[in-house]
Amino acid sequence: MVPWAHAVIKEPVHAWLVTDGATKILVDSGGPGPAEMKRRLSVDAVGGGTETLVERLAAVGTRPDEIGTVILTHLHFDHAWNLELFPGAQLVVQRDEVFHAVDPTPTQRIYYLRETLSAVLGRKRPSGLRLVDGDVELMPGIELVKAPGHTPGMQAVVVTTERGRVALVSDCGDSYANWYPANPNAAARPMRYMGEDFLPGTIRSESERVYADSMRRILQRADIVVPAHDERIPKSIPEEWFAVPAAPPPG
Ligand SMILES: [Zn+2]
Repeated sequence: MVPWAHAVIKEPVHAWLVTDGATKILVDSGGPGPAEMKRRLSVDAVGGGTETLVERLAAVGTRPDEIGTVILTHLHFDHAWNLELFPGAQLVVQRDEVFHAVDPTPTQRIYYLRETLSAVLGRKRPSGLRLVDGDVELMPGIELVKAPGHTPGMQAVVVTTERGRVALVSDCGDSYANWYPANPNAAARPMRYMGEDFLPGTIRSESERVYADSMRRILQRADIVVPAHDERIPKSIPEEWFAVPAAPPPG
């Protein structure tokens, strides 16, 4: 038995609905459900899959066929699954991310699943797939910021809201500890020597400097960062919208 066989990992997987009341955009499409996670990764996951996504969208009054655009921050399986729910939507992906999904760095092969690539490449028409290069203003109030680091074609989505500019940073610093490593609220073991610098995540295709530069560029454009896998998201929003949330309880 491996020592961590029974470890519990609190790592939520998110998909974000962005709407002005009329246009409905999904940022990332969530991950596989429990059966897939067990079969492929031997993980006992809770939630996920098409059922959960349909359910969560319904809870905010949205059917999958109302989603016109799905922005994929990158093509890892826990961000770009369930795409069969959105056959009529336009997928928006950085071109470099598609190349990387075809030929990933060896350590990342496990994160790119064939189904995601087929779903993306299966949309040959421009109306079904928009490949972008670099920073793009997708529409007023929604900016894509190319942020190589975690993957070469990673992109963050900066959404202008009534409360300010929110960067859905996905896995470009997937917890608050990456963004504020010296802050005791953000990091269980604060790294005081880091000061205001960024702590790149351990899963990365690019150098630490390239990764940190991407984080810096995002923060220059946003008032708050919302990381993909911080266990405090989304519970601590919007109550503590523009602050690093309080430290989570131990355990
Ligand atoms: Zn990822």
